[in-house]
Amino acid sequence: MHEEVTLAQVRDWLLRYADRIDECADYLTELDAAIGDADHGVNMVRGMAKLRTHLLESTFPNLNSLLRTVAMTLIGSVGGAAGPLFGAFFLRAAKEISSEQSVTLAQLVQMVRSGLEGVQQRGKARLAEKTMVDVLHPAVEALEHSLAESQSLGQALEQARAAAERGMVQTIGLEATKGRASYLGSRSIGHQDPGATSTYYLFETLASTINGASNQNHNHNVE
Ligand code: ADP
Ligand code: MG
Repeated sequence: MHEEVTLAQVRDWLLRYADRIDECADYLTELDAAIGDADHGVNMVRGMAKLRTHLLESTFPNLNSLLRTVAMTLIGSVGGAAGPLFGAFFLRAAKEISSEQSVTLAQLVQMVRSGLEGVQQRGKARLAEKTMVDVLHPAVEALEHSLAESQSLGQALEQARAAAERGMVQTIGLEATKGRASYLGSRSIGHQDPGATSTYYLFETLASTINGASNQNHNHNVE
């Protein structure tokens, strides 16, 4: 099977992601208010406005150029801890490809794996420290499993979405030991991590872009 994710689909994915972040901005800020400084929604929305402009107004010769632009845009506009980390994710993912117009599942898995490594090199967080790593890590594992099992692209992305969602929900029970939430120590337990949540939306919108679903509207409120 040679299903591929195309440049046009990646652009569509990131536009859907920007819309999803806008929809959930207040929720992300609420999550960050509980264990951080209540700016994650605002930070991400600022980045998404810039990202949307670049995606709509620029033309990209290949996936490498698109993903590098995404990375530089997020680094330059999101700010906080999350901006450079999302930037590291897309920059490292871009390094896995050059002039490709589309990628296979195997290439996509390698890109997401490298993106995770980029985030971990930059932020030094390991699994279960209540960060975006807790979503990226299980998503990568699910993708690798799907690839080994020769699942279809659509199945693989749905499995990655589901694993990412489980990782996001599991951050509720974790104590933060990295980033601003770590200042709260054990008082960070019982709250879902904002960056894990915004990272989950990457996998949610990737799956819905490829599987053709309209924007899903799961309610991730912890209340
Ligand atoms: P800030 O913490 O500077 O206010 P944001 O509120 O935009 O930045 O982002 C906070 C999110 O960043 C956290 O919820 C967490 O998921 C993520 N984060 C913080 N530090 C790290 C790290 N070292 N590694 C991975 N993710 C991190
Ligand atoms: Mg914050």
